[in-house]
Amino acid sequence: MTNLDQASQEKLVERFLRYARIETASDRSVAEIPSTPSQWDLLKLLVKELMDLGVSDVELTANGYVIARIPSSPGSGPVIGLMAHVDTASDAPSEGVNPRLHRDYDGGVVDIGEGFRLDPAEFPELARYKGATIITTDGRTLLGADDKAGVAEIMTAVAWLQANPGFRHAPIEVLFTPDEETGKGLDRLDVSRLKARCFYTVDGGEEGVVEAECFNAYQVRAQFTGRVIHLGVARGKLVNAVSMAGLFLGMLPRSESPEATDGRYGYYCPLEIRGNLENATLDIFLRDFDRERMNGRLETLRTMAKAVEAIYPDGRVSLTETKQYVNMYEAIQKDPPVIDLMIEAVRRTGIAPELRVIRGGTDGSKLSAMGIPTPNLFTGGYNYHSRQEWAAVPAMVRAVETILNLASLWAERG
Ligand SMILES: [Zn+2]
Repeated sequence: MTNLDQASQEKLVERFLRYARIETASDRSVAEIPSTPSQWDLLKLLVKELMDLGVSDVELTANGYVIARIPSSPGSGPVIGLMAHVDTASDAPSEGVNPRLHRDYDGGVVDIGEGFRLDPAEFPELARYKGATIITTDGRTLLGADDKAGVAEIMTAVAWLQANPGFRHAPIEVLFTPDEETGKGLDRLDVSRLKARCFYTVDGGEEGVVEAECFNAYQVRAQFTGRVIHLGVARGKLVNAVSMAGLFLGMLPRSESPEATDGRYGYYCPLEIRGNLENATLDIFLRDFDRERMNGRLETLRTMAKAVEAIYPDGRVSLTETKQYVNMYEAIQKDPPVIDLMIEAVRRTGIAPELRVIRGGTDGSKLSAMGIPTPNLFTGGYNYHSRQEWAAVPAMVRAVETILNLASLWAERG
């Protein structure tokens, strides 16, 4: 078990505050990667800080990926990777982040500002950090613990390893990425450049929680083609594409929607609908942990399309199916030590590991699909993408300790 010294703990908080104050929201509507120039500010700062820590193998690629390597010293073991993203979500304001430190938190309701409150009755995880330091926003913006907590934790682990050359650990590859929140973050990454046998995204939330499973995800676009004629003489002739889309929409099972499911249940989610008498388009997200059940969902939509055509013989329904990401568990389960050592590392840190599923996708699922198993570690950040985002310093400290324990466990394996 590795304990982070007081000075390193303070540096961790300083790093986090420094990164959080740099505005790095990404933008879904921009094709370029990174989608926003401000992400470069943090990427360049991280390169400089890594070099200042004495890491010699550091690179910033043309598409905004920081790749750095810390050789094993004096241990051995396979190269393991640590990944975090520098961008923040665009769902809440992100300009002028002003983090507030609450030292010796009294366990009660925190008035963070602008009328926003953190109430332990609503967010029970707060109670765990009574007497400790928590970090909140000032109510005007998000905090960006997603994922600057992860970035700061990886940087602190690197700094600690550089300062403790006698510590036996596996060689480490660090990857800082842009645009995770837009879902395009790894699109320009040349995976053949990576040396790690597996990666760990440090991008989770609640302390102790590790995640090795995410959804399989498809987007289906249903296009409805009708036949238009003047409404005054439409009897028996008009084929209304809007009505066809409405009929199709009504066939989606409401008990299998995001608002009606949780845990391991998948869903259909109609996302956007638009159109007119002649043409209408409906976009639907399909999510399921199980690949076979996902195939069943796709088949259901095909059957529904045929049913609508049967009711509107002169109309047409065509479906375009796009795979978005796959359950990372498929890649991770082929390499059992990747999860086993992650769980053991959490245990060594003195906390009870909890394996959960992600009802979404991450860059880890993309990297896993490219052949590098990549589960997800907690960061100690909560209420992501909101003005009520907060982070618990003790949890952040234990995230760093978990990373160090993980590096040590892989070296023990040799
Ligand atoms: Zn994230």
